[in-house]
Amino acid sequence: MGSEKHVRLVTSAATPFASILELTLVPRPLGFEFLSTLLAKKTTNALNPANRFMSRLLIQRGASGTQEIVLKPGANRLGRNEENDLPINDPTVSGFHCEIDFEHDTVVVKDLGSTNGTFINSVPIRQAILEPGQTLRLGSVELFFPPDAQTTTTLPSPRPAGARVRLAKAGMDQPPPQQQSAPPVAEEPPLAPPLRGPDDCRNHSGIPATLICQQCGVLFCKSCVKTIHAGNRDVHSCLLCAGICVNLAQHRKAVAKETATFGNLLPTAFKYPLQQDGPVILLCGTILFAFLDFARLILLKVIAFLGLFLGLSFLIPMVLTFVMSAGYLFAYMQNIITATSNGNDNPPGWPQISGFWDDVVVPCLRYSTTLAVLVGPGIVMLPVSTPLGVTLLLLGLFCVPMAFLTVSLADSIAGLNPLLIFSSISKVPGPYLIACALLLVIIGLGTFCESFFRLAPIFIVPAVVGKFVSLYGLTVEMRILGLLYYTNKEKLSWFG
Ligand SMILES: [Zn+2]
Ligand SMILES: [Zn+2]
Repeated sequence: MGSEKHVRLVTSAATPFASILELTLVPRPLGFEFLSTLLAKKTTNALNPANRFMSRLLIQRGASGTQEIVLKPGANRLGRNEENDLPINDPTVSGFHCEIDFEHDTVVVKDLGSTNGTFINSVPIRQAILEPGQTLRLGSVELFFPPDAQTTTTLPSPRPAGARVRLAKAGMDQPPPQQQSAPPVAEEPPLAPPLRGPDDCRNHSGIPATLICQQCGVLFCKSCVKTIHAGNRDVHSCLLCAGICVNLAQHRKAVAKETATFGNLLPTAFKYPLQQDGPVILLCGTILFAFLDFARLILLKVIAFLGLFLGLSFLIPMVLTFVMSAGYLFAYMQNIITATSNGNDNPPGWPQISGFWDDVVVPCLRYSTTLAVLVGPGIVMLPVSTPLGVTLLLLGLFCVPMAFLTVSLADSIAGLNPLLIFSSISKVPGPYLIACALLLVIIGLGTFCESFFRLAPIFIVPAVVGKFVSLYGLTVEMRILGLLYYTNKEKLSWFG
């Protein structure tokens, strides 16, 4: 088989049914003789008034129009073999291809290990619910399940008026009953009583859903999905569309985060340094930087005491303490910016130092360069022309937060490109002004705390408290810059 299948796909958006017609009609000698036998067997039943409330399969044939075959309640086996409840004589259909269970208004299709597969709306399935409006395909035979299939009859009936499935067949010119290219379900009318909660399982009113299908967006309880145990975690799959189902609460949280604005997330930045291991990280940093400050102070005093010539040997360790604190601090700040812009919500620990040059000297040089480039021109021009110098200085300072962001995310001083900095500021002026204003507040607060505690005549305490407050403030500010990027990625479009 296979070679004689001259399948011609007509993909026309206007007439989605056309594609099916072509698929089934074109030279398939064994095509649809089965229909006659099937009809001979079943239509008599269907026409019998005693059986009029039986579930029906609807077949469409060219000139003769629409015909139906009956889906009996319970299991209906379909396949090429004559022993099936509904034999389908088509070379692409397996001997025993699939089983259709019709029970309680629901049509469930189960593949019986067929060679060419069972599909619902082109998605291969092993077991799935067939929804009204969907197309079931066995091999290359398509069966349409019309949307009106499950409407309950007005006649007194012990059972809902059958599920009918329409079989697509070539040569008909009647319009498609429904756009079947439409995505599966999602906005289905509720089947359940009006008491149904908005987050209830699709199949169980009153039972809150815990899972959501990522593909069709339908909510389910645990028992309404197919669960596969993969290692030590469970993978849930949707019985409607075979999509993966994920935890509803986590999904909503992720969606909320994806759609959050800078303004929404801004208040959370102040909690950020105290989240998870945050306090420990801050405390360690405080001790480290207070110690480095203290060491630098002692070395400075020694140099001052010995004079520059004699104290020269102390100059190098003094410079080292500066490079270490500045480099390490900036590496930490860059970590926060990159972690935040990647959507990470917990403060990263202090950076690992694997090499003194890469992890300390390079960040120190990078950020010293940043400051020099931004503030330098103003300082140089100040003696020449005060207004120009002040203007340049203010402009440079105004660009500092954005430059930190661009340099951090570019992971290079290439981020200092003035065009990039100016155009980025102009793309997000509001959030950027807020970030600048908060930076001023944070610097002011840190300075105030430090000078306030200097009034206390206790050794080292002012330095430690001041360090702690300014580290907290820096962490908040870097978080804000990271959030500025995270919530404006598309607008800024730095990385293509
Ligand atoms: Zn789904
Ligand atoms: Zn359920």
